[in-house]
Amino acid sequence: MPEIYDLHCHSTASDGALTPTELVRRAHEQGVTSLALTDHDTVAGLSEAQTAAAATGIKLIPGIELSSSWQNKCFHIVGLNINPAYPPLTEATRNLQIMRIERAEKIAYKLEKKRIPGALEAVKKAAGEGMITRSHFADFLLSQFHVSTQQEAFDRYLGAGKAAFVPTTWSDLELAVSWITGSGGVAVLAHPLRYKLTASWMKRLLAAFKEAGGVGIEVVTGRHNSDEIKTVADYATRFELAGSVGSDFHNPSNQWVELGRLTPLPANIKPVWELLS
Ligand code: AMP
Ligand code: MN
Ligand code: MN
Ligand code: MN
Repeated sequence: MPEIYDLHCHSTASDGALTPTELVRRAHEQGVTSLALTDHDTVAGLSEAQTAAAATGIKLIPGIELSSSWQNKCFHIVGLNINPAYPPLTEATRNLQIMRIERAEKIAYKLEKKRIPGALEAVKKAAGEGMITRSHFADFLLSQFHVSTQQEAFDRYLGAGKAAFVPTTWSDLELAVSWITGSGGVAVLAHPLRYKLTASWMKRLLAAFKEAGGVGIEVVTGRHNSDEIKTVADYATRFELAGSVGSDFHNPSNQWVELGRLTPLPANIKPVWELLS
């Protein structure tokens, strides 16, 4: 049986639609043999996912997707094979949860000013014990017919500089990487093309990321086409970074990012799973 890796996805512990158990079962049905659960800024879904994985025979890699700041911009760092009980990481996730609640209050206030009341209650209810994200606000705006797509919610309200955007200073990229590596994990730069950096800024970012201890980059993500894969593979080669593959799956209704349905890593790229012991 071929090994199929999917090293980036979300559950109800953050902005995914499926519980960790449902997610693991779906990954198994899709033929995934190694799955990393990488919820935004939380490890809360990992123990349930581990139990479900043991029952299905899939290998579960404990992960996280940390929000970080570098040069006043937000970058996502995926940690693979982390130790969720590593105290600095546990403390960081606690602080991130508080930051996210405070940010949600500010976003809701901005929406109220735009005559859109009730957002805070709705997102708190939807997120439950999980991390509150802008996706929850997008779902709320959609459910109240203020927008007709998730994308429109970001374009009009939630995206950078838009009506309900709240600039957030996350922990420094170096610190976020250190929580991952300190816990025994491997740090991977998530979806590098989503930041819309120029080539020279991308090189500065990758130099800083490597300097901080980052060792991998997502060469294949759910929405990459072959040109994009080649672009990122070239960065991986140039900066001697291992390549990761991850769908960034959030929701079964987004058919184009199904779990495990990923282009193989280019043959000249060192697979990040070779670094996971
Ligand atoms: P947050 O980490 O709370 O800022 O929320 C970021 C999440 O919002 C991402 O992980 C995506 O799931 C989602 N997101 C960001 N931009 C968009 C977009 N343009 N369309 C749909 N979802 C988005
Ligand atoms: Mn998300
Ligand atoms: Mn991300
Ligand atoms: Mn993600």
